[in-house]
Amino acid sequence: MERVRRAWHRWWAGEERVASGLGELFLERYPGAVMLLDDEGVVLQVNPEFERHAGHAPDQLLGRRAVTLDADPLHGGFALALDHCRTTRQPWRGVLLCRRANGELRHQTTMIQPLEARPGGPWRRLVIQYDVTGMRERELHDRQLLARLDDTVSRLPGAIFRLCQNAAGHLELLYSSEGLETLAGLTPEQAMEDTARLLELILQEDRRRLEIALAQSAVSLAPCQLELRLDLPDGLRWVEVRARPQRRRDGSILWDGLLVQVTERKVEEAKIRRLVSTDMLTGALNRRAFFEQGAAVQARALRHGEALPLAMLDLDHFKALNDTHGHAAGDLALQVFAATCRECLRPYDLFARIGGEEFVVVLVDTSLAEAWSILERLRRTVEAITLEVEGGESLRFTVSLGLANLPPDGSLDIALGDADRALYRAKHEGRNRICGADGLSSPFSDADPA
Ligand code: GH3
Ligand code: MG
Ligand code: MG
Repeated sequence: MERVRRAWHRWWAGEERVASGLGELFLERYPGAVMLLDDEGVVLQVNPEFERHAGHAPDQLLGRRAVTLDADPLHGGFALALDHCRTTRQPWRGVLLCRRANGELRHQTTMIQPLEARPGGPWRRLVIQYDVTGMRERELHDRQLLARLDDTVSRLPGAIFRLCQNAAGHLELLYSSEGLETLAGLTPEQAMEDTARLLELILQEDRRRLEIALAQSAVSLAPCQLELRLDLPDGLRWVEVRARPQRRRDGSILWDGLLVQVTERKVEEAKIRRLVSTDMLTGALNRRAFFEQGAAVQARALRHGEALPLAMLDLDHFKALNDTHGHAAGDLALQVFAATCRECLRPYDLFARIGGEEFVVVLVDTSLAEAWSILERLRRTVEAITLEVEGGESLRFTVSLGLANLPPDGSLDIALGDADRALYRAKHEGRNRICGADGLSSPFSDADPA
């Protein structure tokens, strides 16, 4: 090592010095390996670091052609690079595969700088190398890891994404895995280039929910989770979004999350919900669902300032019908009655079976006069039904109705009580008729019902 230092100093002190005193100190302490070549590529000098770097003692290197350090001295990159510098007098930079004294192959980031020793003097080439083998191995390892991860991510049943909301509230998709295409019909590139195009696939109502969920998550920094529908050419698709937010220093929010297709699950859930909320015999809502949905209808009516007529319906002399024609005929009558109600009502009206042969109806966005007219038509339709039952007999039945007003901000139970009292009156007055609760009377004269 000492010999190298002496040789180094001799060189710097000689006529071939190419740097100032500061440069001399710099190169001697320089952590990279440096060697100086003559114009033929023969090693004139190496700095102290080169010995450690190449594993060759300096006397093994000096006077030797530098290309012999190349893993392939004849055809390797070193010879080409040196040639390039010699012919163009331009620097060269790249990675060479070199062989250390112990035979080990190492990747060296190499810079070759052509230098004129003095104006008009001989040309030299300064070679500086850094060993980047470890870095390259790590890079290779990282690349393999990333490729494996990419492969795994692309086979996930969904997509992972990174979404950014800048301080002005603008949303931008920064990353999505390949699964997005199966999920939304857009490639990750298309969606990243035009985030609005992806957002426009979300049903408007659900997009509003997403905006609210993101706004809440941005403030609380709590995870955001919701299910939304994509409106795709082959129909609606349910997607679950789960994302975790983080705030960046510039005020923007980043969400990293998952998108998973949940259409089948939502269809199953809807089936189960329908089953638990429906009366098996008639298909009408059951009592529990009626109270749940009644509250929702009231909330909507309150927002829109709508009236909500509510009616109780009870089949007349049903016990006698069962006794005369049998329970199966009674069941058939209940089914036909329910189907008739559904035909006379609109799909968004509530219709529920709340007792054996007792039903309730809430007419949405309908005045009391309109409700009376609709229910009167229903009563007459029921009255006109003739059912063929076992033994060739025919069966007829009628219904009595009590009509009340359900105030959107009032109690459902109280309105049911009012309607029940009106129904009692209808029974008392001879059945097969509608009676209004206190203060409600038929808008039609008895002689000329609508
Ligand atoms: P009203 O005109 O006063 O209403 O007399 P009603 O006979 O209809 O009233 P009541 O409450 O005395 O009898 C109701 C009958 O409805 C008794 C019951 O057997 C019958 N019922 C209740 N649920 C069902 C059912 O699911 N199927 C059948 N077939 N009958 C039922
Ligand atoms: Mg009855
Ligand atoms: Mg009854």
